[in-house]
Amino acid sequence: MSISTQILPELIAAVEQVIEANAEQVTALDQAIGDGDHVINLQRGLAALSQQHEALVELEWSSALKKIGMTLMSSVGGASGSLYGTMFLAMSKSASSKQMDMAVFAGAFEAGVESMKQRGKSDLGEKTMLDVLIPVADSLLKSAADKQSLDVALSEIPDVAAAGVEATRDMLATKGRASFLGERTRGCIDAGAKTAQLMITAIVQVLQKV
Ligand code: ADP
Ligand code: MG
Repeated sequence: MSISTQILPELIAAVEQVIEANAEQVTALDQAIGDGDHVINLQRGLAALSQQHEALVELEWSSALKKIGMTLMSSVGGASGSLYGTMFLAMSKSASSKQMDMAVFAGAFEAGVESMKQRGKSDLGEKTMLDVLIPVADSLLKSAADKQSLDVALSEIPDVAAAGVEATRDMLATKGRASFLGERTRGCIDAGAKTAQLMITAIVQVLQKV
């Protein structure tokens, strides 16, 4: 995988588009069991990243991931900003002084998800974006261990992410604002899981064209 940071503007634009296209649907999900600001939080972060297109493409992967993490930390209010910020900073550390390839990316993604788990004191099954991110990390690690091509590895991710979102429906929220609603959270999909799926699937679609 010799994809350079030159792809970042296209990835950021694709993520912005998919969040915009699904803004109403996601906001409705977040209003049901959250405070309804999740889309606005993400859009604030994505707008800040868009301002940095030119700076990001000048950097190698580890520095670019660090800049993304710091930008998300400082621009996004809400739990999702510090959680995604933490994830990208850990990805940056993991990828540091390594040549980016499938295995390095899978390891970095896994390290990012691990640090998000620690930051959020949360794990699989708590009705959060981790219910998408953890299965995607596992899928990437398995693909890297099996020495799958990038194409095959990417092709498996959308279904894994979609299954992760759907799994949140019957879960009881035990973390974040939704946890205040207890049993009333059953039957609703988690907004953060939905946006994680949308963003990951949009990124996969861009990478499949490379
Ligand atoms: P806030 O909850 O502060 O308003 P957002 O609305 O931006 O922040 O994000 C809410 C999403 O963040 C939830 O839908 C959930 O997926 C995720 N989330 C909340 N708390 C945690 C946590 N402790 N660990 C992982 N994800 C979490
Ligand atoms: Mg919120």
